[in-house]
Amino acid sequence: MSKVKKKVKTIKIDLDKCNGCRACEVVCSAFHAKPKYSSNNPARSRIRLIRDPLKDVYLPVYAGEYAAAECMGRGKYVIDGKEYSECDFCRASCPSRDVFKEPDSGLPLKCDMCEDDPAQEKPLCVQWCLNDALTYEEREEEVEEEVKPGDVEAGLESMVDKYGLQKVIDTVARMAKKS
Ligand code: SF4
Ligand code: SF4
Repeated sequence: MSKVKKKVKTIKIDLDKCNGCRACEVVCSAFHAKPKYSSNNPARSRIRLIRDPLKDVYLPVYAGEYAAAECMGRGKYVIDGKEYSECDFCRASCPSRDVFKEPDSGLPLKCDMCEDDPAQEKPLCVQWCLNDALTYEEREEEVEEEVKPGDVEAGLESMVDKYGLQKVIDTVARMAKKS
């Protein structure tokens, strides 16, 4: 399979610069409100702050993939004298906690990098983080080219044109038996 270049968008988080202001949560939830900017509710944000002001713990976490089952991770991390649980860093919407779930429907939330038309210059949480704790980065990566269903259909059509339908069916049936 051939390789293609893909633009990968990431946000780098500098914990030392985050003061827990939650501006990122406010703007993200407002941007995703329907209609856009009609309300804000941090519970709908795709970035959430794990906060413990008495211990000076402020950890911004982006919503990632949905997880159908909770995992066994219950470890502890101590970083610069501050204690975090393994769950604190997790990006999943999972059954064992309430974060990254749409409050009304319970549906999982996922960061979409502020997809918009026209495109935003930078994700809004990055633009609104006045402490520069969030930095937007883009890089190119080589990945396997995705096979689109349309490509498969076009390939099958040309084989049928060349060899005839029955021969293609017989060959596919033979291959299916072998696998
Ligand atoms: S990049 Fe956009 S969608 Fe993702 S957390 Fe930030 S504001 Fe929300
Ligand atoms: S806007 Fe920046 S400083 Fe404020 S909570 Fe979010 S990441 Fe932290």
